[in-house]
Amino acid sequence: MLKGKTAIITGSGRGIGKAIALKLASYGANIVINDIPSSDYADETCEEIKAMGVESIVVKGDVRSKDDVDRLISETLDKFGKIDIFVNNAGITRDGLMIRMSEDDWDLVMDINLKGAFNCIKAVARPMMKQRSGAIVNIASIVGVMGNPGQANYVASKAGLIGLTKTTAKEFATRGIRCNAVAPGFISSAMTDVLPDEVKQKYFDAIPLGKFGETENIADVVAFLASDMSQYVTGQVINVDGGLVM
Ligand code: NAP
Repeated sequence: MLKGKTAIITGSGRGIGKAIALKLASYGANIVINDIPSSDYADETCEEIKAMGVESIVVKGDVRSKDDVDRLISETLDKFGKIDIFVNNAGITRDGLMIRMSEDDWDLVMDINLKGAFNCIKAVARPMMKQRSGAIVNIASIVGVMGNPGQANYVASKAGLIGLTKTTAKEFATRGIRCNAVAPGFISSAMTDVLPDEVKQKYFDAIPLGKFGETENIADVVAFLASDMSQYVTGQVINVDGGLVM
């Protein structure tokens, strides 16, 4: 389904990003792993992907930095000559009630989750426009649709990412570039492992399918949005949340 395509996934050393990288590789795509410079996981994930019989490189860099993002794009083009798929997955949380939320925590989350995606879309749009094709997938969150107490910064960044998805879809549609978002619900990962048990239970009780999501559930939908199977789909937000929001 993706044989010979080139895919970049930000923040893909571990968690959902890693699952996406493995899934796209399983369909034949060559993979560029991006993660923060201090990542302990990126090289290991890259080796795992190479063992699947596709090519893979690591380009470390912080999505907040325009220079790092430009290097991510140029090193990918040097190696593979084109970029077919770009997944904005890098994201963090710094939770706290708004009344106690520091300006630093607000800025950090907005910078990584929203400005990081803006930096990446702007940089990858140029080669994709030249090719007159490309699929961009942004990893948002259902809280960006429904709001969530204690996550003002994160919710605002993900709601912003949904708006950015729709604008990207409209601005680049005539150039053959599609842009969609996946909004995960509660997915078992390092990000959710640290939540208190009572918060986990509250989510669990509200999920109609009666279980937490796995990183692979997100990867399956990203693979669909990255492939020609979704060639007439753009500007959409697909909730992958066991029915939590409907
Ligand atoms: P995770 O395990 O913490 O993975 C996030 C990845 O992003 C990590 O590899 C992290 O690097 C990397 N990263 C952080 N800051 C970065 C930066 N500035 N530049 C480049 N990479 C950076 O979290 P996850 O659960 O897989 O989350 C992945 C995405 O899904 C995020 O956008 C998150 O908001 C979204 N999401 C997750 C859930 C969920 O339930 N887990 C729900 C909704 C949405 P390190 O390895 O060094 O930390």
